[in-house]
Amino acid sequence: MPAAGSTSRVEGRPLVDPFGRAITYLRVSVTDRCDFRCVYCMAEDMTFLPKAEVLSLEEIDRLASAFIRRGTRKIRLTGGEPLVRRGIMDLVSSLGRHLASGALEELTLTSNGSQMARFAEPLFAAGVRRVNISLDTLDADRFARITRWGRLPQVLDGIAAAKAAGLKVKLNAVALAGPDGNADEIEALMEFAAREGHDLTLIETMPLGEIDQDRMDQYLPLSRVRADLARRFTLTDLPHRTGGPARYVRVEELGLQLGFITPLTHNFCESCNRVRLTATGQLFMCLGQDDQADLKAVVRRVGSDAAALDAALDAAIARKPKGHDFVIERRAARPAVARHMSLTGG
Ligand code: SAM
Ligand code: SF4
Repeated sequence: MPAAGSTSRVEGRPLVDPFGRAITYLRVSVTDRCDFRCVYCMAEDMTFLPKAEVLSLEEIDRLASAFIRRGTRKIRLTGGEPLVRRGIMDLVSSLGRHLASGALEELTLTSNGSQMARFAEPLFAAGVRRVNISLDTLDADRFARITRWGRLPQVLDGIAAAKAAGLKVKLNAVALAGPDGNADEIEALMEFAAREGHDLTLIETMPLGEIDQDRMDQYLPLSRVRADLARRFTLTDLPHRTGGPARYVRVEELGLQLGFITPLTHNFCESCNRVRLTATGQLFMCLGQDDQADLKAVVRRVGSDAAALDAALDAAIARKPKGHDFVIERRAARPAVARHMSLTGG
């Protein structure tokens, strides 16, 4: 079998899973480390992965490029906090070559905003046009309680820098119940986003990884938030879909695009177009299932051999499950999946 022939045959052939869903979106967690310790995401004394287990930036580039050759159009870098990974701009600039060639439509990232003030301009220069920045509250004390190590002014500066650099910003807020939650601030966050010209997406807490608190105490169903908002605002459904779990409305009074990510109250798996690569090179075909393919072993064995990487992607995607089965309830003593969001990437 001629290796060169097989490489050219697979090049461009889309990755399609057993349920006919084309995989066009890759999320990459570039590090499991973070400068915050958000209460819903991590325990305060998190143990992080040994550096040797984490993919090098070159290995990430090789794997991401293999996905792009097979039809991935959108890549989101996440973590942990992607902007605390040393040399992150080398990776962003390197992946930017696929934007320049037109092979990749969008390169974006999800960040807590803490380092955004110094990275916004270089990100724009590398071809990034949109970023998601997490912001759960506008109250400085509450922000410090929710993120434990984060400080609000630094993040607000980061958000302003992103806007000034020309990046379109989407704010992500996890909807949190309880005394330290943000149920009473949803409207203030909407007004802030509308005033600054940003989009806003509300996220339901997901049962990922052991944390120090009871997730049931944090869980605020977005169906309830949406019903409350509908009493005060005109919410017009938008047809816009991303293949992910978000559903969008326009809040007419504010001119705001508002998203709801509701993995627990809404099933979105039928249109899933994405897979997730962890910082250690495990490919998770579903955020809510444990099955994974070890692409670190593959890339360390085959280097940049395109045919071998292709075969590994085919084998992994053939195992993509139909959907997840998240549930948060008191009798479920353990999280639905044991790994943290910071490992798989949000
Ligand atoms: N550190 C970056 C940040 O906070 O934006 C990127 C990684 S973080 C894991 C990505 C997103 O996941 C954030 O918006 C965060 O609020 C959200 N997140 C973390 N843990 C979550 C959980 N258990 N349920 C729902 N969302 C979660
Ligand atoms: Fe860090 Fe983001 Fe997790 Fe918060 S949500 S601890 S900022 S990775």
